[in-house]
Amino acid sequence: MDRTEKAKKVLDILEKEFPDAATALEFSNPLELLIATILSAQTTDKLVNKVTKELFKRYRRPEDYADADLKELETSIIPVNFYRNKAKSLKGCCKKILEEFGGRVPDTVEALTQLPGVGRKTANIVLGNAFGKDALAVDTHVKRVARRLGLTDSDDPDEIEKDLTRIIPKNRWTKTTHLFISHGRKTCKAINPLCETCPIQDYSVYYKTQYGKKKVKA
Ligand code: SF4
Repeated sequence: MDRTEKAKKVLDILEKEFPDAATALEFSNPLELLIATILSAQTTDKLVNKVTKELFKRYRRPEDYADADLKELETSIIPVNFYRNKAKSLKGCCKKILEEFGGRVPDTVEALTQLPGVGRKTANIVLGNAFGKDALAVDTHVKRVARRLGLTDSDDPDEIEKDLTRIIPKNRWTKTTHLFISHGRKTCKAINPLCETCPIQDYSVYYKTQYGKKKVKA
């Protein structure tokens, strides 16, 4: 079975397993999602939502972050990991949005990745969820699931994105991120994945390697 066919079968199964798969980050506009996504690095979505619930009441526009007192902004996000660096990114990011993008969050990956603290993963999350574009974001779960299934041989997120977007139809890119994240959190855990109850074990190279099942279609 080639990778394109395998990806289709896997996504069909995961769609049924997680019919409501979506980002867990709470936001009401592109700026809020951009801020929440920057804060979410090395921090759970649940904690980010707790922090942004208060943050978004006080910081509503790019100007609010750009003009903020750095110490005050740090204090507002203190529960998240690396809050000092992230506060700097939020300020720098919003300054650039004001100076170069007319105060609006840009809606292309090229422009978004020019913002401080924004890599392709963050850019694709914003594009796929706040702008409704087709965008596949490779986080740690997507990377692990894709590698274990044998949909990529790469270890580099940008290369994995290229590999996956080559074999998955464009209209499934955004959903793929949510499905792989949901599957990675529930079943394909980093340590002790729950392979015996995995609904896509038939397509998993990892399963074949670990359990040597002959029925595997990988
Ligand atoms: S069989 Fe195991 S390693 Fe393979 S996708 Fe399922 S949980 Fe992950």
